[in-house]
Amino acid sequence: MNDCIFCKILNNEIPSFTVYEDENFKAILDIAPATKGHVLVIPKEHSENIFDLSNDKAEKLFLVAKKITTALKNILNVSNFNLIQNNGRIAGQTVNHFHLHIIPRYSLDEISLWVPHENDPSVTENFANEVKNAIK
Ligand code: AMP
Ligand code: ZN
Repeated sequence: MNDCIFCKILNNEIPSFTVYEDENFKAILDIAPATKGHVLVIPKEHSENIFDLSNDKAEKLFLVAKKITTALKNILNVSNFNLIQNNGRIAGQTVNHFHLHIIPRYSLDEISLWVPHENDPSVTENFANEVKNAIK
């Protein structure tokens, strides 16, 4: 992808700080970290979002994420993390090349991810069934 910033990083056209690399993934330090130790896991194969991601990379991703998160836990001496993956502009995606954020969490770091809402149990049951039937 010509104008994809992460493809450029993967091709070493743009510098980055690599923390992990294998045949399928590169993990780098985020240029504007939410907290100290914020890492991005980037599949080498360009896909825009979770819908484009190959099943093979989807399967392998969390093993890599687990290894990196465990290393961060050990060297930063933190045990709280968020693993976040944004799909689409409304969801906060700014780089249209699939990536997983690994974000160490510190007390008083002031990151808020969402606000919980009240739920209607009857709607919930119908919705659960709808989702169940839609999964292929
Ligand atoms: P998202 O908003 O989920 O698309 O996340 C994109 C992330 O990429 C943001 O956290 C950015 O700070 C990060 N980012 C953008 N450009 C670079 C870069 N050149 N090197 C490292 N991280 C980057
Ligand atoms: Zn790309």
